[in-house]
Amino acid sequence: MILISACLLGHRTRYDGGSNNMALLMEQGNQTQFIAFCPEVMGGLLTPRPAAEITSGSGNDVLNGQSTVLDKNGRDVTAFFICGAEKSAQLADKYKITAAILKQRSPSCGSLKIYDGTFSHQTKPGMGVTAAMLHKLSIPLYSEEDLTPELLRLISHD
Ligand code: SF4
Repeated sequence: MILISACLLGHRTRYDGGSNNMALLMEQGNQTQFIAFCPEVMGGLLTPRPAAEITSGSGNDVLNGQSTVLDKNGRDVTAFFICGAEKSAQLADKYKITAAILKQRSPSCGSLKIYDGTFSHQTKPGMGVTAAMLHKLSIPLYSEEDLTPELLRLISHD
């Protein structure tokens, strides 16, 4: 079973009320069992909501209490991000998740790069808060950017 960022399947969970639906995933929907999830919504944030970014470091630093997540208005939303990451871990355990496909650059779902905390569309290397949590559980992480039909077939049959 594969955990997948809900916005990649067309769910309008993005901060601005939009989605990132990806044709490859939509086409594969009948053959692969996906569990769609949005950690920010599960953590209690509303949609739409102000954009948020990790202030320094990355998701691991947030989980360790060494960094915070602030929204564009300066509100500290760290607790919502941590709550969403914890609920995602529970979901992964409950459904025996073998891989996760996560939206790159998100402060929750980014697996290789995230926005740099300046709200200027610049990225830096690092994981989002939920990606860091799933990584701690040794769940293989993929993003929409490296997904090919072959890779999707491979991880679907793990
Ligand atoms: Fe998509 Fe993840 Fe952002 Fe939710 S938190 S909208 S699933 S990238």
